[in-house]
Amino acid sequence: MDPNYLRNIRVLVVEDDEDDWLLTKKIFSRIPDSPYIVDWSKTYDDALERIGRNEYDVYLIDYRLGENTGTDILEQVHPERFRQPFILMTGVSDSDLEWRSLRLAAADYLVKGSFDATLLSRTIMYALQRKHMEQQRIDQLVELNRAKEDFISIASHQLRTPATGVKQYLGMVVEGFVGKVPDAQLGLLKQAYQSNERQLRIISDLLKVAQVDSGKMRLHTSVVDIDKLLREVIDEQKSTVEERMQKIHFKRRDSDHPTLSFDRDAIRMVLENIIDNASKYSPEGSEIQISITSDVDTISIDVTDQGVGINEVDLPRLFEKFVRFDNPLSTKVGGSGLGLYWAKRIVDLHGGRIDYRPNEPSGSCFSVVLPKRLPEKSELIYTTNGEE
Ligand code: ADP
Repeated sequence: MDPNYLRNIRVLVVEDDEDDWLLTKKIFSRIPDSPYIVDWSKTYDDALERIGRNEYDVYLIDYRLGENTGTDILEQVHPERFRQPFILMTGVSDSDLEWRSLRLAAADYLVKGSFDATLLSRTIMYALQRKHMEQQRIDQLVELNRAKEDFISIASHQLRTPATGVKQYLGMVVEGFVGKVPDAQLGLLKQAYQSNERQLRIISDLLKVAQVDSGKMRLHTSVVDIDKLLREVIDEQKSTVEERMQKIHFKRRDSDHPTLSFDRDAIRMVLENIIDNASKYSPEGSEIQISITSDVDTISIDVTDQGVGINEVDLPRLFEKFVRFDNPLSTKVGGSGLGLYWAKRIVDLHGGRIDYRPNEPSGSCFSVVLPKRLPEKSELIYTTNGEE
């Protein structure tokens, strides 16, 4: 028995020549026990509108469409994003056009006058079958990915509680709550404490990424004084930076006082990550410059370091999940390779971007660019009225 998707198949024939449409219709009528319900669209604009309404199972598109062409339609709609196949028809066989339609993700290519009812039906059936199988594979991958994300989220939740317990107990022993600890043991306990802190940071990164990947992340925006926020972040990182004998210089290039709406906690974590990286991936004694600049639509927070920098070949993968590059400091400083991935997702949700450029003569410059106006209100954005 035919699967459901091979019954009552709604076909839209896009054809500006009435005689050709009647001919195609006739060929359809010759298909025995035809499962097709065939409709006609005679202009480019009408076809685009109907494709947008998503009412058909397959599109048969003629190449010549008045001032436009069938490939214009393919370019416009991107067939690879559709569950329905798009089949291009032409008056004459043309191998260049055939390649072009392939590149534009057409499901097949038919030359008018050289197909009969059997070939037409077979072409449509096979195209539908291929799309169906492709969709099944996509559904499986989506499901697999969801299961993987659930696993990461559950495992990290389960790991967090015992790891937090270890931190508390170690902290108590190190602080001397249960008596004085001999120096030799104290040294080891402090190292255990630091390892445990790293472990907790990785768990926290995994949980943050699981939340943003699950699509459950909601932005709670309020009006924030970016200047004040940056000073807070810098203050917080002061001791780590001083341990590395580094210096942070912060300057605002404009005289205006930049306040804008964003999710304070999330952007704070983004800035923490980028400033922490600037320090982590820089040698002792180096300097980090932080500045804020604004133009009509955006505010940019630039963090420039004199560190190891990033090789040009690595840049395309900079914001990918779990990606860490080999550099002279990467083993020493450790990390999860999740910070920049998460940061980019958060800044994207705000309608902003993170740019990277190398610093001269050495090091990196990361710019967090935020829009002065948030994107059109979406379900992802909640506005809380409170000002700082
Ligand atoms: P990690 O936890 O490894 O620091 P991130 O996602 O924050 O993860 O960064 C990914 C990788 O990008 C880092 O492992 C490092 O190789 C590189 N990187 C990030 N920031 C810098 C920087 N300021 N200078 C040099 N390399 C950097």
